Amino acid sequence: MHNPGHRFQAQDRFADGAQYIAGRLTKGTSGRMHAVVDPATGEEVYTYELASTVDVDAAVAAAREAFPGWAGATPGERSDALYRFAAVLADRAEEFARAESLQCGKPLKLTREFDVPGTIDNIAFFAGAARHLQGQSAGEYSGDHTSYVRREPIGVVGSIAPWNYPLQMAAWKILPAIAAGNTIVLKPAELTPLTSLLFAEAATAAGIPDGVINIVTGAGRDAGEHLVGHPDVAMTSFTGSTAVGKRVAEIATSTVKRLHLELGGKAPFVVFDDADLDAAVNGAVAGSLINSGQDCTAATRAYVQRPLYEEFVSRTAALMASVRLGDPFASGTDLGPLISHAQRDRVAGFVDRARGYARVVTGGEIPEELKEGAYYRPTLVADAPQDSEIVQSEIFGPVLVVLPFDSDDEGIRLANDTPYGLAASAWSRDVYRANRATREIKAGCVWVNDHIPIISEMPHGGYKASGFGKDMSAYSFEEYTQIKHVMFDNTAVARKDWHRTIFGDRP
Ligand code: NAD
Repeated sequence: MHNPGHRFQAQDRFADGAQYIAGRLTKGTSGRMHAVVDPATGEEVYTYELASTVDVDAAVAAAREAFPGWAGATPGERSDALYRFAAVLADRAEEFARAESLQCGKPLKLTREFDVPGTIDNIAFFAGAARHLQGQSAGEYSGDHTSYVRREPIGVVGSIAPWNYPLQMAAWKILPAIAAGNTIVLKPAELTPLTSLLFAEAATAAGIPDGVINIVTGAGRDAGEHLVGHPDVAMTSFTGSTAVGKRVAEIATSTVKRLHLELGGKAPFVVFDDADLDAAVNGAVAGSLINSGQDCTAATRAYVQRPLYEEFVSRTAALMASVRLGDPFASGTDLGPLISHAQRDRVAGFVDRARGYARVVTGGEIPEELKEGAYYRPTLVADAPQDSEIVQSEIFGPVLVVLPFDSDDEGIRLANDTPYGLAASAWSRDVYRANRATREIKAGCVWVNDHIPIISEMPHGGYKASGFGKDMSAYSFEEYTQIKHVMFDNTAVARKDWHRTIFGDRP
C-alpha cells in the first residue's frame, strides 16, 4: 500500500513512553496497555502504558513547581520562547505531518497544508499576543483612591483534548494558557497521543522550561476525571463531545474551577435561492467532507431554498462521488478513513437507520476495496424530517443531510433548530439577506459564501450546547487569565471618611 519507511516510526520514536512530565518522556504506571492503530490499515503502530492517577499527580506537581518562574517571566521572555517554539516546529513540520496522518488517517496534503502550518501560525500569533496582555488603565473612580486592574495567570490548567485534530487541539489549549503565564497538564485522546508528545518535546527544544507543558496520556474515566477534579488544578479546559463535557462540568463545578468547554456541533449550511450554486455545491462537499467529516464545524445540514433544491442535491451527490478515498500517504488521495473502525460503524449505523425515513442519494457504504481500513463513502441523505436523528444528532463522519425550505424565515428557523450552536454558513449574493442570517443564526461563527476557514486572530467557540469560552485569538485570554482590582488610598489619613459607618461622629 505504501512504503512504511516514509511513514512515522512511532514505536521507535516514543519507546520511552507516552507521558511527558517535567520535560521528559516517561512510561505510564496504570498497568494497562493501549494501542495506537493506523486507521487506514487496522495495524497497531504504537503500544504504550496508559497514565495512572499517580502519573497525573506527578504532572500536576511538575506544572505547579514550574508556575512561579513561568508566571514571573516578562511578557517579552515568554514571547521570545514562543517565537523559538514556532521555529522549531517549522523545522520539524514534515515529522509532525506524518505522525498526524498516521494516527488519524488524514491525507498528508491536509496535515501538510492545514494542521501543521495552522499550528505554527497559532504559536506565532500567541508569541505576539503575549506582549499585549493588559489590565484596564488606572482611574480615580472614588475620588479618594486610585484603582487599576491587574490581569494575572490562573495557575495550573488541566486540559482534555479530542482525537479529530490532535495537534491543533493541543495547540489551541496550550498556547493561550502558557502565553498568559499559566502552566498546563494536557490529556490527549488515548487514540492519538503522538503529536501532543512531539509538541511538548519541541517546546522543550525551544527552551520553554520543564514543567510548563506536561502531557498525560490516559483514559478519560480515571486520568481525565482525576485531572479535572485535582485540587491543585485551577482551571479545566475541555474540547470533546457534549455528553462528556457535561460530566467534566459536574466535576469541575463541584471543585469550583474556572471552566472552558468546546463541545459538539451540527453546523447548518443555508443556501438562499439567489446563491451562486457552483460555489454552494463545492462548499458543501468540501465543508462536509473535510477530515472525513470529523470536524466539529463541518457542514452537516444543508438547507436549500426550494427553487435550487433538486439541482443542489444531484450536483452535490455527483461531486461527492468523485472524491477519491485511499491511502493517506498517497498523493492522489482526497479522503482518508475515519479515526477507527468503531467510529465508522457508528456512522454507518446513523445512515442505516435513516434508510427507513429518508433517501440515501450517494454513498452509505463501506468501500469493499478498502475494508481493512475504517473507510466510509461520502454520503448524501435527502428528504429526512427535521426532527429525525440524522438531522438532530452529531454524526461526526462524511455525511451531509439536505433539506428544502421555502421562506427565508423558515430557513433560519430550521438552521437554529438543534441543541448545538458552534458554526453555520449562509449562501447568498444579497448582502441584506446574508447579513440577516449572520445576525439571527445562533452560532459562535457564521460564514458567508464559505464554510470551514479559521484564522488565529479570530475566536472559535460555541453557543448553546456547543459550550462556552473561546479558543484562538486574544479573546481566549479571557478564559486563561483572571482580573484583580488593586485599590490605593490617596488620602493618607488614619480615620477615613467612610469609617463614619462604624465609628459615627466620634473623633
Ligand atoms: P470525547 O468527548 O469522547 O473525548 C474527548 C476527550 O475526553 C478524550 O481525551 C477522552 O479521553 C476524554 N474523556 C472521556 N471521558 C472522560 C471523562 N469521564 N472525564 C474526563 N475526560 C474524559 O470526544 P472525541 O470523540 O474524542 O471527539 C469528538 C468530539 O469532540 C465531537 O463531539 C466534536 O464535536 C468535539 N469537538 C469539538 C470541538 C470544538 O471546538 N467545539 C473541536 C473538536 C472536537
